[in-house]
Amino acid sequence: MTLAVFAGGQSTPGSSSETFDVVNPADDTVVESIRIADPSDVERAVACASAAFGDWSRAAPVERSTALHRLAALLEGKAAAYAAAETQQTGKPIRLTTEFDVPGSIDNVSFFAGAARHLEGKASAEWDGVHTSLIRREPIGVVGSIAPWNYPLQMAMWKILPAISAGNTIVLKPAEMTPLTSLMLAEDCMAAGIPAGVVNVVMGAGRTVGEALVGHPDVSMVSFTGSTPVGQRVMELATATIKRVHLELGGKAPFVVFDDANPEAAAHGAVAGALINAGQDCTAATRAYVQRPLYEAFVSAVADLFAGVRLGDPTDPATDMGPLISRRHQQSVAGFIDRARGYGATIVTGGEIPGGDLARGAFYRPTLVTDVAQDSDIARNEIFGPVLVVIPFDSDDEGIALANDTVYGLAASAWTTDIFRGLRAQREIKAGCVWINDHIPIVSEMPHGGFKQSGFGKDMSMYSFEEYTNVKHVSMDITGEVRKPWHRTIFANPEISQ
Ligand code: NAD
Repeated sequence: MTLAVFAGGQSTPGSSSETFDVVNPADDTVVESIRIADPSDVERAVACASAAFGDWSRAAPVERSTALHRLAALLEGKAAAYAAAETQQTGKPIRLTTEFDVPGSIDNVSFFAGAARHLEGKASAEWDGVHTSLIRREPIGVVGSIAPWNYPLQMAMWKILPAISAGNTIVLKPAEMTPLTSLMLAEDCMAAGIPAGVVNVVMGAGRTVGEALVGHPDVSMVSFTGSTPVGQRVMELATATIKRVHLELGGKAPFVVFDDANPEAAAHGAVAGALINAGQDCTAATRAYVQRPLYEAFVSAVADLFAGVRLGDPTDPATDMGPLISRRHQQSVAGFIDRARGYGATIVTGGEIPGGDLARGAFYRPTLVTDVAQDSDIARNEIFGPVLVVIPFDSDDEGIALANDTVYGLAASAWTTDIFRGLRAQREIKAGCVWINDHIPIVSEMPHGGFKQSGFGKDMSMYSFEEYTNVKHVSMDITGEVRKPWHRTIFANPEISQ
């Protein structure tokens, strides 16, 4: 039985009177009914995190690193259990959780186990000749983190690892629909020797538990991953206590295909980039802009490949795409397509909730949409489903302008065999990550984060430490003099200063 709160090294039920059903969206079965937390649990978890901060922040980096290495080894041994739990609560195909979510998460742990020993300031020096300056990178305190449901384990990792490897302690609120692997992870952090109170997890509703965490005066920083509207709310709440805020928000990634691209590579890349995790990926390819000479061939190749994608039981290793996260989300995705039909879009393939065996879950067919205007709802707004819109363009200038014509700026890709076009695209497309001739791959060593309304701050990589540490300047007099030359600013009268 899963308990909603892990605080100070102990699992307890949530204190609210409400229960929340974690549902397997592949067949609508209830995986677990969990009594969720309320703000009093946030209070307790923050108190535990505050109490643990002193020792953890002063621990030698090697201690933090060693615990994280042990965690990586422990997770290796439980990889199959994590993959199964992740698949059960999200409906992700087991191939995805086994080959992507879980190994990617373990690699994050290994990366931060190493990074914990490499937090450095700049070289010390006597900048004015009479003081030695040094730079300390110090942990901030208790970090309150809030995660979405689309990659529950990976998002928990992206929140927990940079925070604790830099010496902070954390209270994480996973999404209500997908708390299971975050709670498993918190227990495994303890088992790996990370002291009680360093990692705390509280499962509860955003409006109550999430807001209590963001507003808590003892929480020094908030790291939020989720939708742009909720990110705006988090930012607003954080102003009351002037918290540091890190926001990883929505996306609407462009996929720009120039006319010299390898057409087969572009089509395969578009299908994989649009359908990974059933399109519930903030960096998923959503808007393909294809230069006119390749447009027809691209649409037809992608349509053929979409039609071959196997939807089905997520526990079957042969399944390519699972359901959406919930019936509600299925309706939201279907709503985008229905509206698009209404304003004259062509649904080239898909565009329906499948029947038969698939009717028992929140499935939606891979959907390719053409004949839509750049300013249509479907080309502008985040759908977060298996939907790719294709729009033709003529000049290179137009392709890049269309890619940038969005409030978002999380990720993008450009497809070309001309090095100069590629170089221009990576420079001019405004997004936190620009892939050339690929779309989706991420690595622990490189940062992930958005521009514009996709947020600010970075997950993963050494860059994440910019969010999770304070830079302190220490300035030390090296002369031992009582009367310093700069005292003339206050002791102008030599008689007084003598
Ligand atoms: P969401 O914004 O609805 O919820 C995210 C989290 O915020 C959940 O834990 C939720 O309970 C909590 N929350 C909701 N209301 C809150 C409030 N008032 N105060 C505090 N917390 C609150 O997002 P979602 O539907 O879970 O996830 C999908 C969204 O996440 C998409 O927009 C996607 O693009 C985005 N996302 C972004 C990234 C990234 O790295 N930029 C990664 C994954 C997902």
